[in-house]
Amino acid sequence: MDLAALRNIGILAHIDAGKTTLTERILFIAGVSWRMGEVDDGTAVMDWMEQEQERGITITSAATRVRWCDHAINIIDTPGHVDFTVEVERSLRVLDACIVVFSAVEGVQPQSETVWRQADAHEVPRLAFVNKMDRVGADFEGAIRQIRQRLRSPAVAFQLPVFRDDEHTGAVDLLRMELVTHGDDPHRVEVTRAPVPEEYADEAWLARQLLVEAIADTDDALLERYLEKGELTLDELVAAARRAVLQRRIVPVFCGSAFQNRGVQPLLDAVLDFLPSPLDRPPIDPRHPPDADAPFAALVFKLQADAQGVLSFLRVYSGSLAIGDTVLNVRTKKRLKLGRLYRMHAMEREELRSISAGEIVAAMGAKDTTTGDTLCDPRHPVQLESIAFPEPVLFVAVEPETDADQIKLSDSLARLREEDPTLQVRRNVETGQTILCGMGELHLEIASARLEREFGVRARFGRPQVAYREAILRSAAGAERVDRKVGPKGFFAAVSLTIEEAEGIVVEFGEVGISGEHQRAAEAGIRERLLRGHRAGFPVHDILVRLVDAEENTVDSCPGAFRVAGGLAVEKALASAGVVVLEPMMQVEVSVPDDYVGGVVGDLNSRRGRVTDITAQGGRQTLVAELPLASMFGYATALRSLTQGRAGYSMVLLRYSPMPAALSDRVFGVG
Ligand code: GDP
Repeated sequence: MDLAALRNIGILAHIDAGKTTLTERILFIAGVSWRMGEVDDGTAVMDWMEQEQERGITITSAATRVRWCDHAINIIDTPGHVDFTVEVERSLRVLDACIVVFSAVEGVQPQSETVWRQADAHEVPRLAFVNKMDRVGADFEGAIRQIRQRLRSPAVAFQLPVFRDDEHTGAVDLLRMELVTHGDDPHRVEVTRAPVPEEYADEAWLARQLLVEAIADTDDALLERYLEKGELTLDELVAAARRAVLQRRIVPVFCGSAFQNRGVQPLLDAVLDFLPSPLDRPPIDPRHPPDADAPFAALVFKLQADAQGVLSFLRVYSGSLAIGDTVLNVRTKKRLKLGRLYRMHAMEREELRSISAGEIVAAMGAKDTTTGDTLCDPRHPVQLESIAFPEPVLFVAVEPETDADQIKLSDSLARLREEDPTLQVRRNVETGQTILCGMGELHLEIASARLEREFGVRARFGRPQVAYREAILRSAAGAERVDRKVGPKGFFAAVSLTIEEAEGIVVEFGEVGISGEHQRAAEAGIRERLLRGHRAGFPVHDILVRLVDAEENTVDSCPGAFRVAGGLAVEKALASAGVVVLEPMMQVEVSVPDDYVGGVVGDLNSRRGRVTDITAQGGRQTLVAELPLASMFGYATALRSLTQGRAGYSMVLLRYSPMPAALSDRVFGVG
């Protein structure tokens, strides 16, 4: 495999912008053109097209490979809903580039902003695709302006959309100065190139001028040549634009309508022209360059269960691996062999005998391996940076109907957790209930539905509730001495500790004169106590516990005693520090027609919301507000009835903030 002819890309978007439709159209169009090249039998191709058109190609795989003009493109699935931003994050680590889809009507939406920032953080080169050009109110230039202003990114139009009788029909390719349409082909698989129509000539030349200047501006030598000659060749422009995209100094913007099959081929051409191959990306680790001869290293970025077992999706960063070779899982320190290796295509999977740098593949039979694990050559261990997951904000209590269901529930939850580490499982110590924690109402709903349908667990699921947290108000100290006789046996431990504010939950040991085993037991007791909370039964976060002194004696000390002493000592410290309840504060963005703004703002205020920004555009206003997650339950329904279904919203977690004391007293009882 020639690595230069490979692209690993993701498609990112705000929900509803058309990511799924675009992905399906790419699979369809690339699938058809591939079949046209493979088989000469037109009818077979037509049959396939009709079947697929009817069924719709749905992407069920975490990564799918298509062929386009002698290149291979791996499309890595990136989930669209806010509840799943962690999956977006995870996929961003393994892809080399992305296409960000915007709606031509709505422009930059809150979630497109979130994914854009994530892509910035991972330094991912990208193209923008302004979709839904067929809709009334489509505004290509407006979308570009928003990318430049709101996302502060160097967006430049590479196309000029073309309309006939108000209907979007195609676009001018501004680099080649050709009109690109689809002729009469009902499936619009074939592309027709023609001279730029007279009526668009002036506009196209102006837009081209802007484009050429933007490209020339990224390269001093090129700029000089341009100033001298007044023009640049197509090859010069493409090469310079490619360099600029890789350095993220330009974001090329394309347009089309995925739904109408318009603009997909030029976008695929652009993926080959402007987006990086694995060779163009900086190596993830200096000793592991993207080279088949280097030591093997791969990152597991997704697990997916199917009928035959669990598939682990790998991004191979360096080296190569044949079936039967041994790899090391760096986290578990265990060696393992990958039973089967596959390349996942839209329609089928292709079994491989070996894999090498740059590839994205699925492996079957990677035991005890989970998302974020590094698999590598045992002689050259490397830890590819693992992925940090955000904390879940909601939870539900699950009550299995029978004991058999309880067992099934535990097994099934373990399976689900392997696939999705943002799903957390806890046990309520007081009630014995299983608690399922997730990123949002939808996330929990999907998990519950899968438990019932896929795994056949019969259980009652409680109402989703907010995952509050607790935090200390000031630093404090606490000590506990446990010295008891239980029958003939003594039970002795003494622990003294301090607590202070910090990030995360950290337990540290000073020079304490107790054994490692007793230290670990004390720490376990402390952590258990922190998880149970002090004020309202929610875990204490943002705390550093430092063990400053401890005492053991050789006769009566045991881990159990240290566990108890650790727990009691931290409880005393919490009591003297004072504890507040923290609640998740969300940033909510509502897009609403002018006529309904008053009602929507009033409603937000009544939910303890604070509107922080309002912008007006084309008869609609976009409200940005901060409000607690607790008052967002049922918001979708409320908004629908307030606006006759004409508003939309989305939300992201801003931070955890202290709850007003009066309110937490009302909700949790006086503390
Ligand atoms: P996703 O949530 O980003 O995956 O968006 P989908 O692909 O599911 O599309 C959301 C909705 O927009 C669906 O009803 C699509 O049919 C519609 N849609 C997608 N692309 C276009 C387009 O180009 N034009 C129009 N008019 N509708 C589109």
